[in-house]
Amino acid sequence: MVPSLPNMEPGHVWLVGAGPGDPGLLTLAGYHALLQADVIVHDRLGCEEILLRLPRVIERIDAGKGPVGESRRQSGINELLLREARAGRRVVRLKGGDPFVFGRGMEEVEYLRARGIPTHVVSGVSSALAGPAAAGIPVTHRALARGFEVLAGQTGEGAPAEADSPGETRIYLMAMGALSEIVEGLLGGEFTRETPCAIVANATTYRQRVVTSTLGRVVEDARDAALGPPAIFCVGEAVRFAAAAPAARPVIVVTGTRVPPLLSARFPGARFLWRPLVEMAAHDGGLAGLEAALASDWILFNTPWSVRFFMELVLRSGGDARRVRPRLAAVGEESVAALEEHFLVADLAIAEGSREGIMDTLSGELKGSAVTLAASAGYGGALVEGLKARGLASLDVLPVYEPRPRDPDPVDWNCCTHVAFSSPLAVERFAGAWPGAPVRILEALCIGSAAEQAAAKCGFSSTLNLAGAQAPDGEVLPSHGQFDEAIFPA
Ligand code: SAH
Repeated sequence: MVPSLPNMEPGHVWLVGAGPGDPGLLTLAGYHALLQADVIVHDRLGCEEILLRLPRVIERIDAGKGPVGESRRQSGINELLLREARAGRRVVRLKGGDPFVFGRGMEEVEYLRARGIPTHVVSGVSSALAGPAAAGIPVTHRALARGFEVLAGQTGEGAPAEADSPGETRIYLMAMGALSEIVEGLLGGEFTRETPCAIVANATTYRQRVVTSTLGRVVEDARDAALGPPAIFCVGEAVRFAAAAPAARPVIVVTGTRVPPLLSARFPGARFLWRPLVEMAAHDGGLAGLEAALASDWILFNTPWSVRFFMELVLRSGGDARRVRPRLAAVGEESVAALEEHFLVADLAIAEGSREGIMDTLSGELKGSAVTLAASAGYGGALVEGLKARGLASLDVLPVYEPRPRDPDPVDWNCCTHVAFSSPLAVERFAGAWPGAPVRILEALCIGSAAEQAAAKCGFSSTLNLAGAQAPDGEVLPSHGQFDEAIFPA
């Protein structure tokens, strides 16, 4: 019933566990299923960051929306899945955590099977296990917990359990509404007022919060901390390992197309929250200039995007990589790697660095040559001006792609510490997208002094320039953002 890597057929429904919220905890099989789906019917819990990273062309339907009332909503979801499957689509039903852990997964499977729809289940990482782990709690421990029990704090799926299963960790889901009843039920027997317990809210997400306590105090502690759902309540001797305040981990919002290597190198322990305000798309104007570009002495690529969209143009012209006769120069490791993806080797690879340094190298090597720069539309950056002034025979810019604005996705700014900007334009986009962001308490991490000045002007009281005053402008820095790279950032 559970495939290793699914090969999805039309008209089938796949129940896929999304994991608890961190997109890194989506399984490989789940990832493959999502990428093949024609439509994704999803929950809210656990799914948000995954959905943000999917190619936009996949249709998605929020199962959380719709007629109120739990049972009506469930029948609505069942009917929706049936309709989509009967229309011959590949349907992914994306459910938080594991589909069979308090998710009514089997109800959906039974409903569909009874109507002849083949269904498959891809297990997920349940918050019942990832939640405690994210707070440093081992659910089993040779000396302290010989097993664990997962229970529902409320709803018809299981009444609050009473005490006494010696040496076990108790893990309650949906526990926040009935916390005091659960605690009351547990006190007595093996569980005492001193038994360690913890609440892990929004586990594995950038909004995770942990309260460690004892059964005697936890109701009050939860109230003081104003913890709400979704949360895991965890009880037992092994819970003494819980880290109430794990070392503060920076949460850095990235609004560009990917996490710049400069940033991940500087903040190795950080969590990157990817909220792109721009996406790259092919620019149709390029096709007209392609023949001239292919006749030049050199083609210069300044970003991995410039490579990928240039090669796309070559394919669209009816040819393939064999048409690329000019010599190739690439700025930055990632542009070089993008060429290699097309089995092309750069004749000249220029390390990222200061704009002056890049121009010196280029003008030394390319002097007297006819050069085409494959770039984003409207690129008239300092690179072009500088190179023209340094004695190339000619320098033409071939527009092969363009950044397109993307609607902002939600951010809980209270849980963030930094925002990263790679250009003044990025600051401008940020200010337009989230006018209410608390810029006074966030630090702006800027690549280049121009971005830093823009951030200060935007109201950030704390700014940091990661690249020094001599940084190339934002466009020269490679920037790409494939699904894989976003899910598994460098
Ligand atoms: N199938 C899901 C559980 C669905 S029931 C799973 O396997 O995780 C919904 C409950 O799951 C919530 O009330 C909460 O108790 C728990 N939950 C889900 N995601 C969570 C998260 N990221 N952090 C803490 N609890 C979570």
